Amino acid sequence: MNYDDNNIFAKILRGELPCEKVYEDQYCLAFKDINPQAKIHILVIPKGKYVSFSDFTKNGSGKEISAFFQAVGKIAEDFDLSTEGYRVLSNIGKWGGQEVPHFHLHIFGKQPLGPMLSKS
Ligand code: AMP
Repeated sequence: MNYDDNNIFAKILRGELPCEKVYEDQYCLAFKDINPQAKIHILVIPKGKYVSFSDFTKNGSGKEISAFFQAVGKIAEDFDLSTEGYRVLSNIGKWGGQEVPHFHLHIFGKQPLGPMLSKS
């Protein structure tokens, strides 16, 4: 799948759409999900043009990948999520339920999160 420059997160990265930013560095940006599924629901995205987790891990540089996951860990610490526990999740492709075709990782926390997958 080719990268679509008009996806919502590309527009956020270009400053064409607003976001509630919680973290930014040279390699990634994190912001609150517009439709939160938990008390804390943060999206972390790389600044590079990667469609999905698969694309990112296959084509991202070692520096981009390490910086990304270090940022995820730092955000979890900043929001004091690790004591009680939290969840990170990435939806990938059609069966994974991915809606926005720019790789992103969800961070959920500050409440019990229930089973990993819905039973329905
Ligand atoms: P996914 O289904 O994994 O692709 O998740 C996409 C997520 O992006 C959903 O949780 C949406 O609520 C979220 N989202 C869509 N548009 C925006 C936006 N403009 N700002 C913040 N989050 C958004």
